[in-house]
Amino acid sequence: MARKLKGIAAAPGIAIAPVVHFHPTLEHIPTYGVGPDAIEGEQRRFQAAAQEVAQSLLAIQRELAGAIDARESRIYDAQLAILHDQTFRRDVEAEVRQHGVNLEVALQRVVARYEAVFEAMENPAMRERAADLRDIGRQLVGALLATERGKYTANGQDYLFVADEFLPSDAGMLDRRHLRGIVTAHGGKYSHGAILARSLGIPAVVGIEPIMLDSNTGAVAIVDGDAGIVILDPTPDQVADYERARREQRAIDSRLAEVRFQPSVTRDGTEVRLQANVEGVRDLDSLETEAIAGIGLFRTEFAFMERRQFPTEDEQVAMYRRAMEGAKGKAVTFRTLDVGGDKPLGYFRMPEERNPVLGWRGIRLGLDWPDILYTQVRAILRASALGHARILLPMVTTRSEIVRCREVLDQLQADLRANAVPHDRSIELGVMVEVPALVPVLPDLMPLIDFLSVGTNDLVQYLLAVDRDNQRVAKMYDPLHPGVLRVLEQIAAAAARAEKPVSVCGEIAGDHWFTPLLVGMGYRELSMAPVFLPRVKVMLRSLTLAECVDLAQRALAMPSTAAVRKLVQDEIQARWLRQLGAGEERRS
Ligand code: PEP
Ligand code: MG
Repeated sequence: MARKLKGIAAAPGIAIAPVVHFHPTLEHIPTYGVGPDAIEGEQRRFQAAAQEVAQSLLAIQRELAGAIDARESRIYDAQLAILHDQTFRRDVEAEVRQHGVNLEVALQRVVARYEAVFEAMENPAMRERAADLRDIGRQLVGALLATERGKYTANGQDYLFVADEFLPSDAGMLDRRHLRGIVTAHGGKYSHGAILARSLGIPAVVGIEPIMLDSNTGAVAIVDGDAGIVILDPTPDQVADYERARREQRAIDSRLAEVRFQPSVTRDGTEVRLQANVEGVRDLDSLETEAIAGIGLFRTEFAFMERRQFPTEDEQVAMYRRAMEGAKGKAVTFRTLDVGGDKPLGYFRMPEERNPVLGWRGIRLGLDWPDILYTQVRAILRASALGHARILLPMVTTRSEIVRCREVLDQLQADLRANAVPHDRSIELGVMVEVPALVPVLPDLMPLIDFLSVGTNDLVQYLLAVDRDNQRVAKMYDPLHPGVLRVLEQIAAAAARAEKPVSVCGEIAGDHWFTPLLVGMGYRELSMAPVFLPRVKVMLRSLTLAECVDLAQRALAMPSTAAVRKLVQDEIQARWLRQLGAGEERRS
């Protein structure tokens, strides 16, 4: 029976394909019935998975021999013993046979039963066995799901990525030619998984009801990335409806795309430089550089997160050079490593933090570990000899951080000069405006910097005290809050007074409902996921500057988010729908 699940619209478009599960846990696993004639098949799956897990445990044990002491090595013996335990195997098989459930569910139930028994024991050594058992259960389910996954991903079939979250390391590992849609249980519209999906141009729904994670591998689902809906096991009528909607959407998209090489100006000729956000060099392959004014934000951390270890300076130079070649002479704004918060770096041990978003992240980490910052800035400088590169610092909070980064830059430039290494001697240094306290002091800071870039994704979360990554409060994350709009206007005014460029590179820059408001406040540079460029350009070209100023002034004077929203609906959305026709309604 078809089930309609609600989530958060994260990347536009419609996908219809079979579900494939990634990142299995024992909490959420595919669930389906097993008839008497399939029981033997489930037993064979158990044997194959147990053999695979045993081999991998033995391999780890061999690899670590000598590096760990005999006591620790016994952990692997204990896990192998569970794996070969005949009672454990019989109990799992009996669960399948007696209750007609699939092997994963049987494992989940038997592990939970055993765990409860071990945990109730007085002896701490026995209680530890509960953890071993859980680990074995997880490994077995992991092996089973990997085999199921292989049936789809190895055969060149289209599929939907379903998991708890979508990480840059996933993007690196997946066969993206056949990846049609992304569904995650975790995250909000502004979380990094959603940003990544948009940059890949793949429809995505995040924060979906967890029941999605229990769906059967191979079950067909519809992902509606505009409405934030997933339909599991759709009826033929629903599939037909969505296929029609997809065709209509494609027709509208190709009409919109016709504007892409036209000038980026308001109806009365004011230029607004539209730039692209990229998350890796591969994004540049599909980028139509003639249609943009440059790369407004290169999130370098995504490339770091896809790897198993820190890239060396030379590897980074190669990557930045490729980015600059890909941008065909247009400016590329390299943001220094912005890890921490919700962007962990697997190979860099970061302390557990209670509030990582308020913790050791962005430039704080770079200044505490100068090796990382020095290597990266040096690599960007070396690549800058090729064209127009800019350096952007993430999560800046204080004047002293900017002063120290300037010193690093000066020192590295002096060093490169002394060694006759070609580089841009007047490379621009910019600052992300993400921390609210920076806004009132911008007039004092402007002499120290060359440009500003407003990271509204973080700025909004800090202004509203709403976690951008938490689906439970996603409704409260509303950049139309008049407090947010007024802060955005202050930033534009501070940059204009100092006669320094300012861009918006957070997600609202790619939201065409915001275009008139941002232009009306004074922004002349917007950087966004390429998928949004056509819409923003069409919106821009449909309005005069005076109309934008009028809309922005009225929005800024509104007393509530609801009042701003009504203005946007009545004046911006209504006008857009009149222009583009009914096919657009689904998106709005
Ligand atoms: C932002 O915060 O708006 C931004 C562009 O940076 P990120 O989304 O990578 O945190
Ligand atoms: Mg940010």
